[in-house]
Amino acid sequence: MTNTSAFWPTLDTPTTRYTVQPGCGFLDAAYYAARHAVHPAIDLNAVTGSDTDLGDPVEAADSGRVVAVMWDSYIGGIVEIRHEDGSTSGYWHLRDIHVKLGEEVKGGDLVGQIGKGAKLDMAAHLHFYVKKAGVNLPANYWPSTHLKNRTACEAFVRENYHHPEEWLKARGAKRRIEDLQAVRGSPIRVLINDLEITGQLVQRPDSGVTVDARTETVRVYVNSREPVPSISIPALPLN
Ligand SMILES: [Zn+2]
Repeated sequence: MTNTSAFWPTLDTPTTRYTVQPGCGFLDAAYYAARHAVHPAIDLNAVTGSDTDLGDPVEAADSGRVVAVMWDSYIGGIVEIRHEDGSTSGYWHLRDIHVKLGEEVKGGDLVGQIGKGAKLDMAAHLHFYVKKAGVNLPANYWPSTHLKNRTACEAFVRENYHHPEEWLKARGAKRRIEDLQAVRGSPIRVLINDLEITGQLVQRPDSGVTVDARTETVRVYVNSREPVPSISIPALPLN
């Protein structure tokens, strides 16, 4: 059965779309090389980069109950939501929190706004993770703090956390424009599967790309997962 209530946690934003920050994927080797810590999450940042997504909405990845709301002196705002299958999605570094402990939420509901951590020393981004059913680690738990060995730490993370992108994909999380429109209506400023496009994307690329007429350049490139299909960008009149 296809889940119809799952959404990527950062979609309906003033910026065009979000992507995983380079080196900040799930158990990313580059993250370990730089910080000697494993990363059990994906860090989502607007493609416009750095702090341009500060304050952007963070939405529940699926329906569930809010099981943690806290402020950590380093992490900043934290929300966790437990879903029907027992898995728990987590949202870190929030500047503002818009849900209460125990509240029932639907996928796509606003849970908070993107922040920079409590000390405001990070580039604004969303740290998003999913703990497996039955895992009861504290909401501000960081798996590298006591497991110094990389192999042991990665094994621990794989045992206790889902790969967030695979979890979203398995749920049919909405990130495509027509899916969002069908479920939620406009607005439609979102990222599209594996294509990275600058400008204000307002239509699916495989049915033609339309960008905001004020956009001067449109650049399409391949991310690490899939080849980019051939896309022709129509010339746009400037008004
Ligand atoms: Zn992170």
